Amino acid sequence: MHAFKLKILSLSSVGFAFAALGHQALAQQLHPVTDAALRNAGTTGTEWLSYGLTPGETRYSPLNQINTSNVSKLGLAWSYDIHGGGGNQEATPLVSNGVIYSMTNWSVVYALDARTGREKWRWDPEVNQATVRPKLCCGVVSRGIALYEGKVIAPTLDGRLDAIDVETGKPVWETRVAYSQDNYTITMAPRIAKGKVIVGVSGGEFPVRGFFAAFDANTGRQVWKFYTIPGDPSKGFENEAMRKAAATWTGDYWKMGGGGGSVWDAISYDPNTNLVFVGTGNAGPWPESVRKQKGMDNLYAASVLAVNADTGILKWYFQMVPGDEWDFDSVQQLMLADITVKGRPRKVLMQANKNGFYYVIDRVTGKFISGQPFVEGTWAKGLDEVTGRPIVNPEAHYGNQPIPIAPGPGGAHNWSPMSFNPATGLVYIPASLTGAFTYRADDKFEYKPGKQNLGTVFAFGPNGPVTDGKPLPAPPTIGPKPLANERAALVAWDPATQTRKWIMPGGGSIGGGTVTTAGNLVFQVIPDGRLVAYSADKGEKLLDVQTGLRGGMGPPITWELDGKQYVTVAGGTGTVQFTPPGGAAPAPARGGDGIHVQAEAGAPPPPPPPGFGGGPSATPKMLTFVLDGKLPLPSPEPAK
Ligand code: CA
Repeated sequence: MHAFKLKILSLSSVGFAFAALGHQALAQQLHPVTDAALRNAGTTGTEWLSYGLTPGETRYSPLNQINTSNVSKLGLAWSYDIHGGGGNQEATPLVSNGVIYSMTNWSVVYALDARTGREKWRWDPEVNQATVRPKLCCGVVSRGIALYEGKVIAPTLDGRLDAIDVETGKPVWETRVAYSQDNYTITMAPRIAKGKVIVGVSGGEFPVRGFFAAFDANTGRQVWKFYTIPGDPSKGFENEAMRKAAATWTGDYWKMGGGGGSVWDAISYDPNTNLVFVGTGNAGPWPESVRKQKGMDNLYAASVLAVNADTGILKWYFQMVPGDEWDFDSVQQLMLADITVKGRPRKVLMQANKNGFYYVIDRVTGKFISGQPFVEGTWAKGLDEVTGRPIVNPEAHYGNQPIPIAPGPGGAHNWSPMSFNPATGLVYIPASLTGAFTYRADDKFEYKPGKQNLGTVFAFGPNGPVTDGKPLPAPPTIGPKPLANERAALVAWDPATQTRKWIMPGGGSIGGGTVTTAGNLVFQVIPDGRLVAYSADKGEKLLDVQTGLRGGMGPPITWELDGKQYVTVAGGTGTVQFTPPGGAAPAPARGGDGIHVQAEAGAPPPPPPPGFGGGPSATPKMLTFVLDGKLPLPSPEPAK
């Protein structure tokens, strides 16, 4: 009876959608975004229906019209002035039925004719900027939207979730995920799992009590909700998973904000196991001593969780960073692939973690398969070969004495998407090479409700305070050698052997990202405004275009229409009056809940970065490239 009811509901809502769309819409809706369409997304490469292109979020396109022989002829086909700036363009645009959909600052959704870039509609949820801005840890950014059965599913920074009619741009339903009054915001792109919208919340640095939840994609009704951190035991636990997690916390842990574990970037869904995989942020405040959690694992912060898509019941978890002290959010992209490891085919989940390790995990059981550093780091000696638990350098558990640790809070890899090419077997990771940060617990810390509570002193450069001409000693370094004089690079990583195959300079972990194709290409958007392309197998640079957008870059996508392959990127920032939280050092490029700043001790504060008031910034634009495109690239222009 239950299943029958669900079917009727689904059919009637489809009927409603088509009735509302009318005759013209019916003609255009050749490929409605159904569960089946999402399961097969990325198979032909013509459309880009979901955040990571494929269900496994591999960002691999089978298109090959643009390939190593001709990518140098890529030119501009059209550009669209996104306007309404104020932050970086972090969204992954989606392409369906000849229309490009995306989201810009303050959660404004727009739809463009993919052939021309002409705007079809634009929808502004009218977020209260004055009240929401102080609740944003890391800029006025959104990582995007989802598509489902005639609707754009759009989270808003202030905690709402809206469904917008793909044709008219008018709301179909609106629901509430969380309240910014409670220090929650939403910056991540929602994902679809079997007719449900799965979305999580930002705010781990306040901290909040992190959670993610599922909503019926046709009605907005909440189906289930999963907290990532246990609550006050005297009020009873929501589920068995919370009871188990509470054993990994001590004292009155629920009284200081909520513990963290925010969910601000990665979710993926495996239709075969019906599991939703979710990455969780760091525990808060950062230092164990300030959090009063010495030696405790603090589940389920800095973990990957696998829950049943229908019920939200936990199937397995894997904690990357037990007792995190370094802001190692483990929310980075959760990529699903089938690869052969040591001669054995494995169904894996992979993550290039902020902490510098590349994890390969059995996605059916949650068992650790392998993990190796993909950049240099000092916080751990390595991972236990059997359990994957980090072997932390004792010095990395800092107290009131400053110590430089790598990677730092910006992470070795952040939200910028990586991609996996099955032909080369390589994963292309936008990585930071020099992310060290000097940690010191704030011994004068007092918890301030409604404010960010990091509990860490931001007063030293990456090499720590200099004493007698010598920087403080750091723990020993592990990992592959970085490039000389480069802060960031594109790393081509073989996940089967956990080795680096090639590395090219440029990129970094905040902004841009990659897509790889059957044309033996990997496209990378570099945060300084460039679109570059390499041969996927060897890393030969074949294209390097300065888009003129200068910064605030989003990841590239590729798609095909009327027999032509296109590449689309967005970037640029408007101006914003940026007030650093608590008078801390100005925070430049930050993503999600990842602080990404190092202030030099004694040095004057750095100038405001582009897009954060005062500095040069480019008007946000979406650019679409095609072979032999002839339009001139926009010259850098100040934001309006
Ligand atoms: Ca964080």
